[in-house]
Amino acid sequence: MSAIIIDGKLVSSEEKDKVKERAEAFEKKFGRKICLAVILAGNDPASQVYVRNKIKGCEYTSIKSLSFTLPETVSQKEAEELVISLADDDNVDGILVQLPLPKGLDEKRLLSLIPPEKDVDGFHPVNVGKLMLGEKTVVSCTPFGVIRLLEHYGIEIAGKNAVVVGRSNIVGKPMAMLLLRENATVTVCHSKTRNLKEICSQADILVAAIGKAEFITADMVKDGAVVIDVGINREDGKLKGDVDFDGVKEKASFITPVPGGVGPMTIAMLLANTCLCAEERESVKNR
Ligand code: NDP
Repeated sequence: MSAIIIDGKLVSSEEKDKVKERAEAFEKKFGRKICLAVILAGNDPASQVYVRNKIKGCEYTSIKSLSFTLPETVSQKEAEELVISLADDDNVDGILVQLPLPKGLDEKRLLSLIPPEKDVDGFHPVNVGKLMLGEKTVVSCTPFGVIRLLEHYGIEIAGKNAVVVGRSNIVGKPMAMLLLRENATVTVCHSKTRNLKEICSQADILVAAIGKAEFITADMVKDGAVVIDVGINREDGKLKGDVDFDGVKEKASFITPVPGGVGPMTIAMLLANTCLCAEERESVKNR
């Protein structure tokens, strides 16, 4: 039996349509557009593509975008001054600093200047803490997108054994917290995990966020498992996931392809987070 291929492009376009409705309702109610500021520092080609797509996503969803391009040689002080001015600007609802930053810039320090209420990436310690506490908050876009994909396909999470391979702050850890919030029994694996194959092969839901092309093979996957591939690896000019798609799709019940699976969800959830930040900021003002 071959797995159902999860269509991230389709789900992402539905999510973007929902964001557009919310953004238009916001504009009607508050007399201004939701506004996202996007900062790109340096000349990383992949970052340029990501930023272009995020701006396109804003255009599609009626969110105003302000784009700031800083040179590779920008100083920490200049970058900080820009973030501080956007943090102080009442017309800006969200601030996104595209990573990675050029060498020499202090990423942690720069990101810490984005106030939690404008943190559309969900990286701020306050928002990470709220996620831990189960409070309403913006959540890191990629794992948030994974949960939406599961929901869209009617895949039950409660009571399932979920295994997340990878424990980064951006993907693995928030992914584990979100699955836990949805009542899965969650195991987090990493490079020091022993018996990875055995652990993975007990997963009802297996999420791979490793950064190693085709690392998860069919012998690591339980029959009928749901396999979510977060990985994006460039090999010989081709994009490959962390899962050996051709082998694993014969065993899984659902599987995400790369490209076209989790990737498109990330931008849709960024736009949803931007809406949430704008709505929450206005609701605090009107309290
Ligand atoms: P990181 O490099 O930050 O984390 C990778 C994780 O994988 C680490 O926790 C690491 O363990 C673990 N790992 C590495 N090797 C092994 C191994 N042999 N066995 C078990 N675990 C291992 O990556 P990210 O989380 O940022 O990204 C993961 C992948 O997802 C990348 O391919 C990235 O490009 C992609 N990505 C895709 C996005 C999308 O929109 N689709 C968005 C963000 C990322 P340890 O902690 O012990 O080092």
